[in-house]
Amino acid sequence: MANSIRMTMMCSAALAITAAGAVPEHFQPRAKELLADSIELEKNAHNLNIIYFTGNDMQPTADSERRISELLVYLQQYYGKEMARNGFGNRSFGLSRTANGNVDICYVQGKQPHKSYAYGKGHNACIEEVEAWFRAHPDKKMSSHTFIIMPTWQDEGYSDKNPGGVPFYGYGRYCFALDYADFDIKHLGQKTKEGKLLTKWYGGFAHELGHGMNLPHNTGTISDNKAMGTALMGAGNYTFGYSPTYLTRSSCSILSNTEIFVSEGNPHKFYSIEAAPTVHHATFVKRGGTLELHLVVSAEVAGVNAYIQDPPYQVNQDYDAIAFACNVGTNKQGQKEAGVIIPLNELGALNNRDAGEMALDVLLQTYEGTRFRWRIPFDLSKQADGIPIDTGKPVLNRGY
Ligand code: ZN
Repeated sequence: MANSIRMTMMCSAALAITAAGAVPEHFQPRAKELLADSIELEKNAHNLNIIYFTGNDMQPTADSERRISELLVYLQQYYGKEMARNGFGNRSFGLSRTANGNVDICYVQGKQPHKSYAYGKGHNACIEEVEAWFRAHPDKKMSSHTFIIMPTWQDEGYSDKNPGGVPFYGYGRYCFALDYADFDIKHLGQKTKEGKLLTKWYGGFAHELGHGMNLPHNTGTISDNKAMGTALMGAGNYTFGYSPTYLTRSSCSILSNTEIFVSEGNPHKFYSIEAAPTVHHATFVKRGGTLELHLVVSAEVAGVNAYIQDPPYQVNQDYDAIAFACNVGTNKQGQKEAGVIIPLNELGALNNRDAGEMALDVLLQTYEGTRFRWRIPFDLSKQADGIPIDTGKPVLNRGY
C-alpha cells in the first residue's frame, strides 16, 4: 500500500539526541542569545514526531530545517522551564536531534496537490498519508504524538506576508502548524511587522502543540494571571514572545503524564487504558467563600485537575475554564485521595457570577496518559453554605 503512495523522504539520518540543553554551533546569533539560559532537561523515553508535509506541487520554505529547529528547541526549553517552575522537574517533550544539533525533521511529500490539504478538512488526507509513511518508516514513529508543519499557500489569498490556507489546529494527538519565509526566532518579541507576525504564528504553534500533547484550554486564577501574565492554553497564543505567558500547574500535571514528557525508563504503555478509573467517594462543598473538592479514586489515577467554567462548555468556548491542580496522595487502602480548595474570589471572569449554571469539571489523569472528564453542574445562588453540592453519579467521559 505504501509503495503506491508517492512520497519522498529526506529525513536526516537518525542520530543520538545531543546533550540536553546544548545549543548547536550553526544556530543563528539571536537563537543562541535566546537559548543562553537553557536548562539541562531529563532524557525522554519517547520523542515528538516532526513531519514537514508538502503537497506534490510545493517545496519546503527556504532554510526550514534550521529555522524550525531553532523554534522547536526554544519551545522545548519554554515547556521545560514551566514544568520545573510548577514542580514537575526539568522535563519537556522529547526531540530527536541530528549530528549537527538540528531537530530530526521528516520531510514528507504528499501524493496530491497542496489544495487537497486545506484548513478545515485537509488534515484527514494528510494524516492518512503520514500514517502510511510511518508504516514504511517504522523507526521514525517515536511516539503517538505527531507535529505536522506545512508551508503557507502562495496564491491570491495567502503568501509569506499573509500566511495561511493549511490546517492549523490540534487534532487528537496530531497538531498542525504552518511555515513561511519569516518564521524565524530572530523576530521574537520585535515590534516590527515580522515580530507581530511571528507572535501570531509562533504563539499559535506553541498553543497547538499543547493540544497535540493532551492539553485542553484553560486559564489561571486572578492571582496567577497577575503574577505570570496569560496562560498559553488560554489566550497565550496572542501574547507568546511579547508579554509573559505561562503554563498553569494543571497543564503541567497533564504533561507530566503525557507519553513524550516521561523520562527514560518509564514503564507505562501509553494510551492503553480503556476503562475509566473508579470514583469511590466525592464531596464538593461551598464553604465561606470557597469551594472544597475532595475525592477518593482508584489507584491508577496519577493526577486530578478541577476546572470551573460557565456554559457553553464546548471546545473553543472553554478558554475561560479556570484551572486548579489537586493535591493527590495515597491512602491506607491504596486508593488515591485528591483535594483542592477553590477561592471564589479567584475566579476571574466568573467572579461576579453568583447565580445561574456553572460547572466543575474533574479531569482524572492516568499514568498511561489517558484522561477522563466528569462534569458537575451547580448553581451558587441555590447552594447553602456548608451543605454538599449534589455531584450525582460519576459519569466519566474519555478525552479532554
Ligand atoms: Zn486552542
